[in-house]
Amino acid sequence: MPDLGGDPIDPLLALDPGARGIARFFQTGGARRAADALRHARRVVLTTGFVVDTGVAETDGPPGAAVLGRALRALGAEVRYVTDAVTAPVLAAALAALGEPDKVVLYPDGPGAAREILARERPTHLVAIERPGRARDGVYRNMRGDDVSEWNAPIDELFVLARRPSYRYRATTIGVGDGGNEIGMGTVRARLVKRGGLAARIASVVRVDHLVVAGVSNWGAYGIVAHLGRAGGRSLLHTPDDERRVVSACVAAGACDGVTRRREPTVDGLPLEAHAALVTLLGLAAQARA
Ligand code: ZN
Ligand code: ZN
Repeated sequence: MPDLGGDPIDPLLALDPGARGIARFFQTGGARRAADALRHARRVVLTTGFVVDTGVAETDGPPGAAVLGRALRALGAEVRYVTDAVTAPVLAAALAALGEPDKVVLYPDGPGAAREILARERPTHLVAIERPGRARDGVYRNMRGDDVSEWNAPIDELFVLARRPSYRYRATTIGVGDGGNEIGMGTVRARLVKRGGLAARIASVVRVDHLVVAGVSNWGAYGIVAHLGRAGGRSLLHTPDDERRVVSACVAAGACDGVTRRREPTVDGLPLEAHAALVTLLGLAAQARA
């Protein structure tokens, strides 16, 4: 376990029941810094969706995006979601399960897509939750090292563009991931590369201003929400029952577990009850006195 300071939320995000080895690139204080950056956000564009195989999105990501988007709306932000056609119905199902409006926009085709989205939405903040980030050779890879570029739109281009110092629509960028191949992991790429082998090959080069690492990416998003609630003295997190409904809704809309590849209500190979329990623990940590 890394040194987790006095934050009651970080130790929960650092749990690694799937033995992904996240301790080596865990970001102590990352969720709190992301929450601080998002507290007064005006326009937020969230992206999510890892397409693991032809036409199949995974269950990690959309629940986190929906829960975080709901919290940001409650704090007064305008929230929009951008993803590709495969993940759109899954994300819409997650939002519907939380009673949230469907504000899902499809990422356009063509080389001008990122500019088009940024100029139209003019986000103050960009957030990626479990969304592929290109490796050094420009290819998107899954945890097994397979090239999944054919199935995942280059949405990470939004983050590359929005971080350019002179760019007109510059935005604060936040990335949440659990494996090293997601948007934001460019920030810890040196550490990932040091591990060599598969970890080095899949490591993304796409950086963010605030990186959040967790044992499951959904948990990283929930950790940001727990911090937002803690800072504002109000509860913004969903309930364990919501968690069960949201993940089940994603599976009903076509998602599969990214690890087992089975179409059942599990996330990263962990049963629904593990995720409901983590939501319970985060809810307690969000209310704990400093
Ligand atoms: Zn991942
Ligand atoms: Zn995951």
